[in-house]
Amino acid sequence: MPSLADIAASIPGYDANLLPVAQAQDFISRLVPRVQAVERLALRSALGRVLAQDVVSPIAVPAHDNSAMDGYALRSTDLLADIDTLISVAGTAFAGGPFSGQVLPGQGVRIMTGAVMPTGLDTVVPQEFTRSDADGRIRIPPGTVRAGDNRRLAGEDLALGEPALQAGRILTPADLGLLASLGQAEVPVFRRLRVAFFSTGDELRSIGEPLEAGCVYDSNRYTIWGMLARLGVEVIDLGVVRDEPAALSQAFSQAAACADAVITSGGVSVGEADHTKRIMAELGEVLFWKIAMRPGRPMAIGRIGARTGARPDDGTGAGPGNPPAMLFGLPGNPVAVMVTFYAFVRQALLAMSGATPQPLPLLRAVSEAALRKKPGRTEYQRGILSVAADGRQTVRITGSQGSGILRSMSEANGMVVLHHGQGDVAAGELVDVIPFDGLI
Ligand code: AMP
Ligand code: MG
Repeated sequence: MPSLADIAASIPGYDANLLPVAQAQDFISRLVPRVQAVERLALRSALGRVLAQDVVSPIAVPAHDNSAMDGYALRSTDLLADIDTLISVAGTAFAGGPFSGQVLPGQGVRIMTGAVMPTGLDTVVPQEFTRSDADGRIRIPPGTVRAGDNRRLAGEDLALGEPALQAGRILTPADLGLLASLGQAEVPVFRRLRVAFFSTGDELRSIGEPLEAGCVYDSNRYTIWGMLARLGVEVIDLGVVRDEPAALSQAFSQAAACADAVITSGGVSVGEADHTKRIMAELGEVLFWKIAMRPGRPMAIGRIGARTGARPDDGTGAGPGNPPAMLFGLPGNPVAVMVTFYAFVRQALLAMSGATPQPLPLLRAVSEAALRKKPGRTEYQRGILSVAADGRQTVRITGSQGSGILRSMSEANGMVVLHHGQGDVAAGELVDVIPFDGLI
C-alpha cells in the first residue's frame, strides 16, 4: 500500500495548496483499494452490482441456425434469377417444434420466427413476398431474397467460449437478460462497499430538533445519503457530531471500524476554529487539500484507522486488525458537498466497489449566455439543459451560484463543467455538461 507521500511524490508539480482537479482525481485513483470479497447472487439480486469475474459463454446463443421471419425456408440454389421460383411445401417448422423430415430439391418448409432451420435449407422468404398457387406450391418472384437472407446463425449473439461480460461491469437490465440467455442462475459480484458518514459543526441540528438562533438543519446528510444510495453502497449514517474532540474521535473510530470509507462534511476549511482537522490528522494519514476548483476548494483525503490504543476487545470493534478506512473530508457548504462528491468521491467509491472506472457522462450543449471564467481552476456551474427549436441542446445557468445555495442544485438538471485551462465562454459557444439524469 503506497503512502500518501509516495503518491504525492509521483505526481509532477504536486502542490496540496493549489491542486488541479485532474491531479486530485489521479491521486485518489492511486490511493483507493478495491474490495476483495465476492458473493454469488441470484440473477435478479445482482442488478446494479459489480461483476467480480469475467463471464464466458458456456453455450452458443442461439444454439442453432433459425429463422428471423415467418415464411418459407428453402435452398438458395433452387432460386431462379429471371422467373418465379415454385416450391412445394414438405412440412412446417415451429419455434420449439423443429421439422425433422427430409427436404428434397425443389421443396421448402413453412417456417415460423425462431424455428430451427431444417437441414440443408439456408434461406427464408418472408411470407408477405410469396403467393400460393392453386396446386399448393409457393410462388416467389425473382430477386425477392438472396442466399442466407432472414436466417440467424448459431452463435451470432454469443459463440461458445466467447467472453460475454467482463469483471468490473455494473450489471444492467440488459446484462441480466444476457446472463439469463446463457442459462446462468447466479452471478459472482463483489460484496457491497460500506460507507459511513457524518456531519460536523456545532450549528447543525437534525430534523425534528428545535432550530435555535444561528443554527441550520443538517442537509448534507440527506444529499450524501441520496448520492450514496444511487451508487448502491451500504450506507451507515452516524448523525451530527459535535465539534468536540472526544465526540469526533469516537465518531471517526466507530466509522473506521465498521466501514470501508468514511465521508464527513464540514470543518476542513482553512480558517476552521474547530477540532475536526486536528482529530483527522491524529487518527489517520490525512492530507488537507486546497483544490483549484469552484465550488468546493477545501477537502481532506487519506486513510483513517481506529482510535489510538484501541484494542479489538474494547467494544468498539476497532483495533489494529482492522484495515484503515478511506477518508473523504468534504467541505461543509451544501453545494460544495455535492460537487466534490461528483468530482471525486463517486469515482473513488465505484473503483473501491470493483467497478471499471467510467468517467462522468458529459454532453455538449450551447451556452445560452456568456460565462465569466478564470483559467487555472475548474468551475462547476449549475445549469438547466433544454432542447432548442432547432433540436440543439442548450444550457442556461441557474440564478445565484453561491456554494451555500442548495436550491440552485435542486433546480438544475446538470452541471456545466468549465475546465481548468478554459477562460470566458461567449454566448453560443459549446460547453461540457454533466447531466444529472441517470447519474449514479
Ligand atoms: P464549514 O466547511 O464547516 O466551514 O461549513 C461551511 C458552511 O456550510 C457553513 O455555513 C455551515 O453552516 C454549512 N454547513 C456545514 N455543514 C452543513 C450541513 N451538514 N448541512 C447544512 N449546512 C452545513
Ligand atoms: Mg464548520
